[in-house]
Amino acid sequence: MARIGVLIEEKGGEIKKTHLGALTAARQDAVNEVYALLFGDHAEACREVLQRYGAEKIVAIKTPEPNPASFPEARAGALGLAMDAFRLDALLGVADQSGKDMLARVASLKGAPLVLDCLEIDFSSGIVKKSHFSGRTTATLRLNGRPWILGIRPNIAPEIVHPRKAEILTYKAPIQVSKRLVIREIKQGEAGGPDVSEAEIIISGGHPLGSAENFTILRDCAVVLGAAVGASRAAVDAGFAAHAMQVGQTGKTVSPRLYIACGISGSVQHFAGMKTSKIIVAINNDADAPIFGKCDYGLFGDLFEVVPALTRALGPVRSK
Ligand SMILES: Cc1cc2nc3c(=O)[nH]c(=O)nc-3n(C[C@H](O)[C@H](O)[C@H](O)COP(=O)(O)OP(=O)(O)OC[C@H]3O[C@@H](n4cnc5c(N)ncnc54)[C@H](O)[C@@H]3O)c2cc1C
Repeated sequence: MARIGVLIEEKGGEIKKTHLGALTAARQDAVNEVYALLFGDHAEACREVLQRYGAEKIVAIKTPEPNPASFPEARAGALGLAMDAFRLDALLGVADQSGKDMLARVASLKGAPLVLDCLEIDFSSGIVKKSHFSGRTTATLRLNGRPWILGIRPNIAPEIVHPRKAEILTYKAPIQVSKRLVIREIKQGEAGGPDVSEAEIIISGGHPLGSAENFTILRDCAVVLGAAVGASRAAVDAGFAAHAMQVGQTGKTVSPRLYIACGISGSVQHFAGMKTSKIIVAINNDADAPIFGKCDYGLFGDLFEVVPALTRALGPVRSK
């Protein structure tokens, strides 16, 4: 049995389901002892959901600074000390944008091995599978020594209920808050609508959409499907979509149940961000587009005709 700390991010007591999936991945058929690690004052508010997904200990980490979110170095230092205090064998987080930043800081402070974008983790053998070289390959790594710092690919682990009775512990980290790096403001992305990294269904558009206004075609379909709207980098670079919507190597990593790529060529960099989608549907007017070699279902046609037709056809089905 290993003791696994899971870095939980919450907002006002709300926890994203990708983090609950990380708890499931850490628990590994109830073999491991799972510590949910969170900053701030919402441990009690989060207790019910964390223990439902298998946390046995909930550690509320306190730093001398009342707002640790503004001080990434202090957060990383506090996490590293909490790992020592609770003799954790590994720290597992979600490899999203904020998780990657924090996990890398902790690994550097502890001189510990860091593996991000994990697809499978076996804590007993230390064997980890991860997406490699923009998703072109899957690497199988064996980790030696402990502790390990691991970031699981968002949405790759389903959240599975495994009720426990969780104890809340408070850990006051004896750290000096360095003010070398201070986050003064976080601006909400202008994407609007659901976040692609959390969505179960995503409809994404590429450069051929041609304008921000034309993304309305996808938004209308997204409403019918209950989907989030994503974009390729070419669409984002052209100013047709917000960066928060970008899927791929330099955008967000997604693993929805259904990914619909509309006018997206299927570049390796785009594929890197969505290849773990359960079902991929491509709509493209070039029969030789690379995406047709990587999808489960291909629709050969003009997206400006196919997507509105899909919206019209699915509307009545959904309303039933
Ligand atoms: C370091 C690096 C990082 C990158 N990171 C990312 C990333 O994170 N995400 C990302 O997406 N890209 C990324 N890219 C860019 C990537 O290489 C591609 O250039 C980009 O994904 C192409 O976008 P696209 O498919 O929208 O456009 P295009 O390459 O222009 O392809 C458009 C596709 O739509 C089809 N089409 C045209 N008109 C229609 C129509 N009316 N109906 C249906 N189909 C139509 C075409 O046949 C074509 O297949 C990165 C590149 C580099 C070098």
